[in-house]
Amino acid sequence: MNIDSKDILTDNFGRKHTYLRISLTEKCNLRCTYCMPADGIPLTAKKHLMTAEEIYKIATEFVRFGVTKIRLTGGEPMVRKDFPLILEQLASLPVEIGITTNGILADRHIPLLKENKINSITISIDSLQKHKFEKITRRNEFEKVWNTIQKFHKEGFKVKLNIVLIKNFNEDEIIDFINLTKDQDIIVRFIEFMPFDGNQWNMDKLVSLQEILDKVHYNFPLQLKRLTDLPNDTSKNYKIEGYKGSFSIISSVTNPFCDSCNRIRLTADGKLKNCLFSGNEFSILEPFRANKSISSIIQEALLHKFAARGGMDTSEKLKNPELHTKNRSMISIGG
Ligand code: SF4
Repeated sequence: MNIDSKDILTDNFGRKHTYLRISLTEKCNLRCTYCMPADGIPLTAKKHLMTAEEIYKIATEFVRFGVTKIRLTGGEPMVRKDFPLILEQLASLPVEIGITTNGILADRHIPLLKENKINSITISIDSLQKHKFEKITRRNEFEKVWNTIQKFHKEGFKVKLNIVLIKNFNEDEIIDFINLTKDQDIIVRFIEFMPFDGNQWNMDKLVSLQEILDKVHYNFPLQLKRLTDLPNDTSKNYKIEGYKGSFSIISSVTNPFCDSCNRIRLTADGKLKNCLFSGNEFSILEPFRANKSISSIIQEALLHKFAARGGMDTSEKLKNPELHTKNRSMISIGG
């Protein structure tokens, strides 16, 4: 099938997928309850995981087809011993590099990130309270993560904080998180809890975009400003007037943003996911190792992409746990 390389990343809805999220590993040094199933996951054998060289060469192909942004995720991307090599190789490509980390190992890589002209970092932290941080991560690393956030900010990085909101757990900290943006030019990003295999998701645990905004309006009746979202933005962006930073809401459940989706995901075992919520996967690593072209597989994956949420386009479908189990757990997708 003769494929025009410029169309490979375009799906049936005309969405061009220029943003590749690569999960470097299924491993993590935290055990967040909404991400890692309580009993963990069966880890893929090392021989079936992408090597640093394969990650670089496969990413180079995606860049050739039009990818302009690559985000490194996990599990926790920095638990890979060859993380520095992977980063240096990818940073040689003409793309914007983003990293999402839990912050535990991040500060040791500050010189590496600077050398590779990476000046922004996204750090996950779901509570500003030590006991709640330990409850949701099942690890005692609050100070480490908090100090790392401050260190990156002091070092001049653009710091974004990812917070998964869960009802009756951390929605009482929404204003505390927003108040972090008063004197610091950071971006606080509230993420609606999403259903994945093994995370006991249900609609009752969700803190919706509207509930967040109601709380903010109540606390900042006249100061809330709506910012202009960027094209393809997953977040709706806001600012409290007079505050240095801003905050965002990622509302995949109550206000999905699939119309402008430009994201595709590559899992650590080399499978292409055309949507975060889709259970459909297309093997890239095997044909790549067999020296076969991967362009037709990429195009096939995108021509099979649903308009929204992997086919869970209604809240009824989204609430159907059977559909959730068809997908992976978050730990092996990387968000
Ligand atoms: S749910 Fe799927 S289609 Fe919608 S924005 Fe996310 S990845 Fe894109």
